[in-house]
Amino acid sequence: MTESAGTTVAPRFPVETDRDYAMLIDGEWVGPGDRDTFTCVDPYENQPWGRVPVATVEDVDGAVRAARRAFDEGGWPQTPAVVRAGMLRRLADLIDQHADELASVQIHENGKLIGEMTATAHGMAMHARFVAGLAETMGGTSMQGVPGYTAYTVREPVGVVAAITPWNSPLTLLSWKLFPALAAGCTVVIKPSEVTPTSTLRLAELCMEAGFPAGVVNVVTGFGQPTGAALAGHPDVDKIAFTGSTGAGKAMLAAAQPRIGRVTLELGGKSPNIVFGDADLDNAVHGVMGGIFAATGQTCMAGSRVLVEDSVYDEFVERLSEAASKLILGDPLDPTTDVGPLACRNQFDRVLQYIQIGQDEGAKVTAGGVRDSSSPETQRGLFVQPTVLAGVDNSSRLAQEEIFGPVASIVRFSGEDEATRLANDIEFGLAAAVWTKDVARAHRMVKRLRAGTVWVNAYRVVHYAMPFGGFKQSGLGRELGTNALDAYTEVKSVWIDEGNRQTFGRR
Ligand code: NAD
Repeated sequence: MTESAGTTVAPRFPVETDRDYAMLIDGEWVGPGDRDTFTCVDPYENQPWGRVPVATVEDVDGAVRAARRAFDEGGWPQTPAVVRAGMLRRLADLIDQHADELASVQIHENGKLIGEMTATAHGMAMHARFVAGLAETMGGTSMQGVPGYTAYTVREPVGVVAAITPWNSPLTLLSWKLFPALAAGCTVVIKPSEVTPTSTLRLAELCMEAGFPAGVVNVVTGFGQPTGAALAGHPDVDKIAFTGSTGAGKAMLAAAQPRIGRVTLELGGKSPNIVFGDADLDNAVHGVMGGIFAATGQTCMAGSRVLVEDSVYDEFVERLSEAASKLILGDPLDPTTDVGPLACRNQFDRVLQYIQIGQDEGAKVTAGGVRDSSSPETQRGLFVQPTVLAGVDNSSRLAQEEIFGPVASIVRFSGEDEATRLANDIEFGLAAAVWTKDVARAHRMVKRLRAGTVWVNAYRVVHYAMPFGGFKQSGLGRELGTNALDAYTEVKSVWIDEGNRQTFGRR
């Protein structure tokens, strides 16, 4: 442990910068060999570390064939649910035991803060236990009203699942797919983001340790092209479970279309965070800040479009801008840090570009707006100051396009009807929030907002017992919740004749 400004900073996880990482295919670890490799870059240190193989189309084919064999011939779908659940619980225990390590690896990969990463690692373990319970209690329905037949339904695993994941919460977003797929009896080929592959490889090691048989969990590393595309387009993949940008989500739909493949999509957002004049403003300021500046704004559900009612607009903009300017930027491993770096160079450049676009469109920067250079560490890392842009037109690019960074765009409104119209006037529909003390208004707004999640006087709360997903171009289907296994099963209807004589053609 080291001391910094009177607080305790966790030691940086000892990363072997010279290490070659290996992929997991059919229970074997496959190193780079003569394949191309790519390098991970720590966005806080701004240092490269670790070489990861680029899976070839043949590697992807090998992984999908392994998953197919494990599904068709390996007996995984027939393994009793209680046994699959037991492996998930063992995995949960291993995740708890290795939570600090899993958090550190992700921090190295994407610069997220230690508090959130440690909490989400333990949250993942709880989620695995919850899903284990779903596996044990999964059942169909028996229909008593069908005359002459015993009629019932069973749920069967959908088959081989391709799990393609982004970099912003690599393990949590993977677990939303991997755990229910395994619980349902599916086999999985994972393609993690090229920005964050090593945390997924570490989780795959824990899966092997938990006892999942060879071929049930496979990981291929690489970029969208050719690795991701080869996986999404593979004819033996029964289902694509994808989290990422809306553009890549459309490519997933196109890839699955020729074989009518099953698809779950968790995509982008530009979520409205609506502050009414009757809100507890102090609470709303901090809730709005958490919605857009937590995780450096790199969350799909970021409350990036802040709609503020006329009557409190000036006061709210002033208080939000002042509070944003006081946030502490720095080491993701320091628990007093509020905002870490952007995860990668592309993202850093993109955020600064959008701040410029906003100003060109006539919005006014009232906080931040530039790269942070307040310390040698933030000068070295990929830091952008928490930024507030006021006077934003809801039809502008700044208000309509996902930035995925610490940029709050403030739009003015007057009354519930205008708030609703502006909030819904967008191609996305992932999340929304309403800040008000009026309970009746809260209920009315919940009904009117076209979004998969609506919070009232809260933001960015997620739990494995509650479904998550988007309306409109924010996605297709839902993850989490008590029905999480539905997305990884097919329903089979069974009819058993109770003694009726077959009459067709009988004279
Ligand atoms: P991305 O779409 O660029 O990449 C996501 C994954 O898809 C990566 O593994 C990438 O290599 C792969 N990929 C990209 N193009 C592909 C293609 N044509 N074929 C196959 N694979 C391909 O997204 P990102 O930059 O990694 O993540 C940020 C995006 O993810 C944002 O838009 C964000 O809103 C979204 N996201 C959504 C949720 C949600 O739950 N709705 C959660 C987190 C992130």
